[in-house]
Amino acid sequence: MTDYWIENMPIRCEIVSQDRMVYQGNADMVLLPGSEGEMGILPNHAPLLTTLKFGIIKVRAQGQEGFFTVAGGVAEVQPDIVTVLADAAENVEEIDVSRAEAARKRAEEMLAKGPPADADAYLKVEAALRKSNLRLDAVKRFRRGAAKPARITEEVK
Ligand code: ATP
Repeated sequence: MTDYWIENMPIRCEIVSQDRMVYQGNADMVLLPGSEGEMGILPNHAPLLTTLKFGIIKVRAQGQEGFFTVAGGVAEVQPDIVTVLADAAENVEEIDVSRAEAARKRAEEMLAKGPPADADAYLKVEAALRKSNLRLDAVKRFRRGAAKPARITEEVK
């Protein structure tokens, strides 16, 4: 009985970004974009710490799947919990397409003027471009019933 319960126990998942709690809930499996490749985390996983690259976190729970963008960070895995500390993260369902389009446009316009004078400014613009591209790509690929090009195009205009 106890073994059955342990085997079927979900793993807790918490995704925290620098400014807010993005997600907390139970999961049957969490897929992380680890720096060394995608990692599938099941309940009772051995403890580990990994850095994350820009990508998608997939949270599977009771036959449902949630998708979250993550713009780098770290994940700590314990047998009963996955904690993601993200530089920035969003539920794909809550991404504001117009805002991401505007951010991408700003970054592209700055880069079009030529490379910024100092390395810091360049890294900031480059990160803004990567984040906006990640968000827009995630909406197209993972938003429920989303890839409605007509609607996205409307919002972009
Ligand atoms: P912007 O230039 O539009 O502010 P940014 O990439 O500089 O974008 P971040 O500093 O990465 O924004 O994030 C600030 C906060 O805003 C975070 O909580 C992040 O999750 C959220 N955020 C950023 N862009 C979007 C978006 N397009 N839709 C929803 N939330 C967003």
